[in-house]
Amino acid sequence: MLKALAGRTVIVTGGSKGIGKGIARRFGAAGLNVLVVSRSLAEAEATAAQIGPNASGFAADVSDPAQCEAFAAAALERYGRIDVLCANAGIFPAAKLDVMTAADFDQVMNVNLKGTFLSVAAVMPAMKAAKWGRIVVTSSITGPITGYPGWAHYGASKAGQLGFVRTACIELAPWGITVNAVMPGNIKTEGLDGLGADYLAKMEGSIPLKRLGSVDDIANAALFFASEEAGYITGQTLVIDGGQVLPESLMALEEMATV
Ligand code: NAP
Repeated sequence: MLKALAGRTVIVTGGSKGIGKGIARRFGAAGLNVLVVSRSLAEAEATAAQIGPNASGFAADVSDPAQCEAFAAAALERYGRIDVLCANAGIFPAAKLDVMTAADFDQVMNVNLKGTFLSVAAVMPAMKAAKWGRIVVTSSITGPITGYPGWAHYGASKAGQLGFVRTACIELAPWGITVNAVMPGNIKTEGLDGLGADYLAKMEGSIPLKRLGSVDDIANAALFFASEEAGYITGQTLVIDGGQVLPESLMALEEMATV
């Protein structure tokens, strides 16, 4: 049983939808104050309303330094403290290398990688002052471990986040701030709804646990990294993928027992 985090404050970037929404909901249920950040104020506020009175929404683009400072200021003004940052906002537009433009590449890097840095930089002063902090970055298996045609820029941004984590954790350790990353596999979010049953069945077939991950699977890991008990874990990564990256060939999956 983890010690209570109730009364602490978490900022969840990209908290209005998908994995971030799952994280925001889970932390809200654990009694934290939750600042839900996304570019759309209406969607951030709608998610906050579903969580309850301990949550509120804020509009910010994580690729903009001033907007990151603004979300940190809002959390301090509304809740008086920033204990946890879930740097989760991310985009994944697909473009194969023969059509990918420099602008496509920059856009993905700006949101996923620079946005992670800017979000961390914005919350650092409050966490340093409190001599306590937990930063949980949402990376991916795509990039650090696997590849997928169309996502060279995305994969580079997700691998880059882990390089960032491994130095940020050393720089922030003297203030009792930990920095870790979750690495989701294929997670069932609203974004997959339109892909059809065939596509989802194929994806599930490539995962040893034979199901897509849920947003709660990721949120539970983020909550653990945010806990008091995880205070000696920093600079680490946790793959949450139902075993997806492990089968060494299609034959390994075919050899699996069916029960
Ligand atoms: P999603 O459903 O598309 O949600 C993305 C969230 O990020 C939304 O709240 C979106 O709101 C926000 N966002 C996008 N650009 C932003 C920006 N520039 N500034 C602030 N907020 C921004 O995505 P998801 O699938 O949950 O993915 C969330 C994270 O998990 C990403 O980092 C992604 O790389 C990672 N991930 C996802 C999967 C998966 O299977 N879904 C797997 C591995 C890793 P607005 O559009 O209103 O800004």
